[in-house]
Amino acid sequence: MTPARVLHTRAPAKVNLCLLVGQPRGDGYHPLVSVFQAVDLADDLRLEPAPAGTVADEVSCPGIDGPNLALAALAAYRLATGWDAPPVRLTIVKRVPVAAGMGGGSADAAAALRLAAHAAGRPGDPVLAELAPPLGADVPFSLAGGRALVTGVGETVEPLPPGPPAALLVVPSAARLKTPAVYREADRLPSVRSADALAAAEAGLRDRIAMGGAPPAVNDLEPAARSLCPSVGAALADLAAAGAQTPLVSGSGPTVFGRFEDVEAARAAAAGLRPRHPGAVVAVAAPPELAEVRTA
Ligand code: ATP
Repeated sequence: MTPARVLHTRAPAKVNLCLLVGQPRGDGYHPLVSVFQAVDLADDLRLEPAPAGTVADEVSCPGIDGPNLALAALAAYRLATGWDAPPVRLTIVKRVPVAAGMGGGSADAAAALRLAAHAAGRPGDPVLAELAPPLGADVPFSLAGGRALVTGVGETVEPLPPGPPAALLVVPSAARLKTPAVYREADRLPSVRSADALAAAEAGLRDRIAMGGAPPAVNDLEPAARSLCPSVGAALADLAAAGAQTPLVSGSGPTVFGRFEDVEAARAAAAGLRPRHPGAVVAVAAPPELAEVRTA
């Protein structure tokens, strides 16, 4: 990377149009069968040379304390490829709600991998696909984007064609939920499926997709998210009252979202919800160019 080169990209959040979860495997990870959809609610990332005298890559990410997954992604890229450019500074402006079930940290990690590959002069470097899974279960999908059937523990990503709904009304919560705690609660309730039940549900979902049908609006983590964060139930009810189809928890929550046939109807419903839910926002499927890397 030449000193003057500054790269930008965006990191789209995801929602799970359907999320089926199995009992934990021997290694403790939960298998899942899910339809992921990238949306145009996205963080902004900027990669540039670090100031003179800086000895290591650094990240500025207001709102996030502690280790940043995007910095781990840069380190993984350097280690795997031998990329030895002088230290870089990564600046992240968070727009995706944090610890909210929208995969914001994973999206930043995937975006950091794309930025590093561009900076190294190797855009689309195939090694990115190998680096994604160890960074986090949602990172392989974030690297691919679009809509996809995701299985395994997140590492198998099968692209799907775009489809309805036209718009999503996303309602973030003031609360945060830690994903591991939600999985533990799902095990305790229990709301997870046996291996046989998950396999049968996957077969049903694949048939449905093959026939052009929409994924069923099911999230096996919803009971756990409601249990740990009771305001989730009220937010789902508010979405239904606002006219959203099939209100659902995204991922491990507490963000909820509902489907709308057209963007204008979703915008009107969002305006009606904002007195009670100030963060209510309309999202659409992320266009592929949203995640492109651009030179400033
Ligand atoms: P999941 O991908 O498990 O669904 P989530 O969407 O619920 O996660 P994130 O917003 O990705 O949650 O954040 C989970 C935790 O990861 C946060 O509590 C935060 O401390 C940590 N984290 C590390 N890096 C980032 C980042 N770049 N953006 C957001 N959170 C980050």
